[in-house]
Formats: sequence, C-alpha cells, structure tokens
Amino acid sequence: MPPASSIPSPLSTDADARFDVVPLPAFNDNYIWMLVPRSPSADLSAWPAVEVAPGVQRPVGITVVDPGQAAPVMAYLDANNAYLSAILLTHHHADHVGGVPELLVFAEQQVQEGQAPSVPPVYGPVGEDIATVTHPVSGGTVVETVSPRAHFTVIDVPGHTRAHIAYFMAGASASADGAAPPPADGAGTAPASIDQNQPPRVFCGDTLFATGCGRLFEGTPAQMLASLDRLAALPDATLVHCAHEYTLSNIRFARAADPENADLSAWSEQAEALRAAGRPTVPTTLALERRVNPFLRADAPAIAPQLRAAMAGQAHGAVSEGPMSRLAAFTQLRAWKDRF
Ligand SMILES: [Zn+2]
Repeated sequence: MPPASSIPSPLSTDADARFDVVPLPAFNDNYIWMLVPRSPSADLSAWPAVEVAPGVQRPVGITVVDPGQAAPVMAYLDANNAYLSAILLTHHHADHVGGVPELLVFAEQQVQEGQAPSVPPVYGPVGEDIATVTHPVSGGTVVETVSPRAHFTVIDVPGHTRAHIAYFMAGASASADGAAPPPADGAGTAPASIDQNQPPRVFCGDTLFATGCGRLFEGTPAQMLASLDRLAALPDATLVHCAHEYTLSNIRFARAADPENADLSAWSEQAEALRAAGRPTVPTTLALERRVNPFLRADAPAIAPQLRAAMAGQAHGAVSEGPMSRLAAFTQLRAWKDRF
C-alpha cells in the first residue's frame, strides 16, 4: 500500500485526453478505478437545463469501477466537487460491490442538494446476484457512460466467479483502422469517434492481474483459460486496470515458474521501485503481460521444467513425462500458485 498521504496520480497517457483514470486505494490492496473528466464541460449533457450562477463551479460527474468501500469514494467526491455518474461492477465479491448501497444513499442526498443530476445507474454481470445492479449486462453489450463520455464493450470472463465480466474501452484503437479489435462473444463495436484520445483500457476486476490471475472460486480452469485468452486478444497497448495491488507477490511466483525470463527480471526491478516510491504498479499493458505473466504463457517451454518439478513435489505417484496440454499446464500452474 502507498502511504496514506500519497495522492493517486492521474494515469492518462495522452495530453489531449478528456478524462483521467485514477486508482483510489481501498482496504489493504484493492484499487477502485475512477474515470474523472478534466472539466465539467464534458458533463453538460448530464444536467437538466439549469443555469449555474457565474463563479459557481458545476460538480463534475465521475464513473467508478468496483467501489468495494464507500468512504474513500465519498471523500474523493467531496474533495473534488464531484458526483457519481455511473457505477460499473465486475463481479459480486464484497470487496468490489460492498460500498454501493452507501454510495447510492450518498448520491440520493447529492441529488436533493442539487449537487448531482441523478442517482447513477449500476452496471453489473447478468449472471450474478448483486442486489444494487440496475443494468445487468453480459458479453457483447456496449455500455455508454455519460460522464466522462465513454464506451465499454462487456467481455464475459468467468473463472474467478461464475459470471465475472470485464469492461473494455477501445479508445484510440477503435479509430486506428476504423473498427474495434475483434471483441469476444460476437460483441458489437463501440463508435469510433468518442474515445479517440484515450488508450485502450480494460477494467478486468479479479481475472487478469499484473503478472498473475485470479483464483478459481466458482469456475473451472478451462473457463479461466478461455477468459484470459479473450483478454489477451485485446490490442498490445491496452492498459490493464486490475482491481488489486498483488504485483510483487505475483512476481515472486512468476520468477519461480519462469526464472530465465529477462523481461520478467527487468519488470521486477521496475515494480519494486514503484512500490518503494509508494506508487501503484498498475495499470500495466497487455504487451507486457504477454511477456511476463506466466498464466498467459503456461505452456511455454521455459516454464515446463519448473512446473513438472512442482508437480512432482505434490504427486503421490510418478508425474507423466509426456507432453502436457495447454489446459493441463494452466491447471497445474494455477494449482501451484495456490500453494506457493
Ligand atoms: Zn473477487
């Protein structure tokens, strides 16, 4: 965790972007991602046609992802003259949805005080039981947020939970060749013109982590592998906004599994330096994850000897020397991480 005094820094990579994406630390190691417009003007369409007195700054609408805790979000809204414009949820775990009821009460109060135009819609997976969700969504749905104005294609990524979803914002990649990258599950494509000053971003909850992946609580290894494949099919430049700061412990495991990986050694040094400076290690990019994340390369020949040794340490009988399928390798790697 960064020290309590550290202010989350905006992470936009483009000076022309109209909003920033800020990680708000929560609990011990969660990040609540906040999409924060750079000016209230981006937000005008959200408001009824009411005049604001000269010199009075109109509150700005923020979109929040997985607010497991209300207090840090409310403190941020208070400190930044802001209200919640939309809430996006990836899965039902309490550290991702637990703050929503209190935030909705807070939002209602802001509406009554004229500090917000309306109570925010709550998007969440159609296949999970989350009482506060007003807009159930699943793979292929395009979610359009008003403030900041952005489009997200929902991707089904079951495995950590049975109906976990991710939100992919195509950003500039949508307009580069006139179309978004092939989305999972026959998803529609977001209009190209809206997010073009943004890099592509994916808000993936507890599915893909920096240098790791989520535990399998409700899904099978085959489901998780397919989910990771869907995420890995996104463009190289996609920023991976995972929901936890697990990177250093993930790197310790990755180095045990993949000890000769030079990219991983270099990333390890960078990540150590970031944490030593009290800074988040996320978002990373998919390009980096493809090189250093053992769960995106479970069947790499460089990983096989360490994986077989770890399996031999567990097996009561002999470990077969035959070739391992990609799914078998992923299954064994995830099991090894669980006991690492
Ligand atoms: Zn979770």
